[in-house]
Amino acid sequence: GIWRLYKLAVPVQKDPGKDFLDVSDGLLEEVAKALEFPVASLLPREAFTVVRKSFDARKKLKEPKFVHTVDMDVQKLFSLEPRTWDFISRLEPKVGLIEHMHDGKALGDLMSIIHNCKENTENTVTGDNGRSIHSGGMRQIQATRKPKVAVVGSGPSGLFASLVLAEFGADVTLIERGQAVEKRGRDIGALVVRRILESESNFCFGEGGAGTWSDGKLVTRIGRNNGSVLAVMRTLVQFGAPKNILLDGKPHLGTDRLVPLLRNFRQHLQELGVTIKFGTRVDDLLIEDGHILGVMASESADRLHINSQKMEHDAVILAVGHSARDVYQMLLSHNVVLEPKDFSVGLRIEHPQELINSIQYSELASEVRSGRGKVPVADYKVTNYIDRDGELSDSGVANRSCYSFCMCPGGQVVLTSTNPSELCINGMSFSRRASRWANAALVVTVTMKDFEALNFDGALAGVEFQKEFEQRAANMGGGNFIVPVQTVADFLENKLSVTSVPTSSYRLGVKAANLHQLFPVHITEALQRSIVIFDEELPGFITKEALLHGVETRTSSPVRIPRSVDTYESASVKGLYPVGEGAGYAGGIISAAVDGMLRMLDLSSTRNHLRLSS
Ligand code: FAD
Repeated sequence: GIWRLYKLAVPVQKDPGKDFLDVSDGLLEEVAKALEFPVASLLPREAFTVVRKSFDARKKLKEPKFVHTVDMDVQKLFSLEPRTWDFISRLEPKVGLIEHMHDGKALGDLMSIIHNCKENTENTVTGDNGRSIHSGGMRQIQATRKPKVAVVGSGPSGLFASLVLAEFGADVTLIERGQAVEKRGRDIGALVVRRILESESNFCFGEGGAGTWSDGKLVTRIGRNNGSVLAVMRTLVQFGAPKNILLDGKPHLGTDRLVPLLRNFRQHLQELGVTIKFGTRVDDLLIEDGHILGVMASESADRLHINSQKMEHDAVILAVGHSARDVYQMLLSHNVVLEPKDFSVGLRIEHPQELINSIQYSELASEVRSGRGKVPVADYKVTNYIDRDGELSDSGVANRSCYSFCMCPGGQVVLTSTNPSELCINGMSFSRRASRWANAALVVTVTMKDFEALNFDGALAGVEFQKEFEQRAANMGGGNFIVPVQTVADFLENKLSVTSVPTSSYRLGVKAANLHQLFPVHITEALQRSIVIFDEELPGFITKEALLHGVETRTSSPVRIPRSVDTYESASVKGLYPVGEGAGYAGGIISAAVDGMLRMLDLSSTRNHLRLSS
């Protein structure tokens, strides 16, 4: 069987570097210690596989270490000298350090899951929710004709949905309002250099979705050992991501790696027969008697939708992300049930990266060499729970929280507006994370009560709430995408940063403003109080060198499109499948990809959902 060994710590000097994915000498010594095996070099290296590697530089440690999780194939230990076999019989799981993997088998890679489903109609693969994914349905469909499926949106959820559907033999058309990465890159360049915002091709819209010009962090709250997460990660490796994302405790790609990966993904989809339509926006849905019949789509440049064309499909996968506010409006016009959803809003803080390195690593900070050394560029994650009045909760029951979100070490602050009258920001980085700055959103949770307090109600109350602050931020910056800023020290004292505003990585310019005038007072106070707490955890966090930028509003979807628990169709329209972040069922690259993948595995396996006339 497989035994999993945890917390095997190797000092930085003994680590062979991030590109070494096997068991190093230093790690083998730690394995031997954990197993109480006297001579490390006698252990057969092939019996061990590194499954996770994380950097740990917490101050309480004597020295920073790389902490590993390693799987041990007990069978392979039998290549040891017979006289040492006795040692194997003495092995015993130690709580917290060694665990017997009863089910050592993860789902494997996506292609093999699909292969298994297709090969064996009797076969079932168990999804994360414990439901079985049957394969019989699609075979029957193929016997009649190929199901025609439109996937709307080429973000992570739409790409993985298209991949699964195409692998199962559906006739897939992937419709994306934005441009392919090559053209999108030029549009983003024009935005950053010449302030031209293409409303359909920008940091949110285009091939790869919101995750392309991003930090490319591949962390997820679903859990790294979850089989579907592994399937997505392995698929990314297949399309060109470095293998170390499979082991790294905090895997990260960066925009420069995402762009070629997406080209490979596109090529693979095309080889599978997927028709990809870039620069094409879905304007409307064709619905009859509560069933989807297809979409109306026009070229994105056709702003008035004059030449919207009918495209008939058996099913429509809605993978549009949460910046496509026009899509929510369109769904409402068809009485598709939408629900407002909690999310978070706040400001993006930026520090010099060197400062964050020294806060986190002390002397070891000098070892961080533009992301090239062994020691990774330092990041942080902070959370503070607050009660409704802004006071810390005595009862321990928190009504609100303020937390750091989407921290981008060695990154830059970027404009994620999709409309020139609104201003919102986020963070991105390149794979080396070599910029001088470290940025992170500091955000506070908001709920329907907050939306109603500003007289916003109905399903899109959260969207209106977002827009309100995006417009206020645009006005405070004075237009032209200039971002209002305040040093963190001045924000705490509620005064304008008039003298020296530190430089910002944001390329379109910043303007000193009092960010207290942006949010309702309880949000501002929650931020103030939390920043003080964060400074206790990260001494030096409050500094004149740290600049708060307004405004961060698009942390996760403000809307949920309810789905049937059995079929994952929209609760209102048969044949309409909302997936990913815009549907309110994911947040982040990996969870969106997983949602697109799993829902389509389900869809592909059931004939009825595609409503084919046989
Ligand atoms: P999206 O990626 O939003 O994709 C939706 C796609 O649908 C878009 O390409 C859009 O153009 C298209 N579309 C919308 N409407 C239509 C229409 N009517 N017709 C045709 N096409 C349409 N997450 C992480 O996990 N790690 C990170 O480091 C990270 N960094 C980020 C940095 C930035 C700057 C941003 C903006 C986001 C970041 N995120 C990050 C969040 C992550 O990008 C999203 O969670 C993820 O992309 C959501 O995937 P999705 O497929 O659900 O939607």
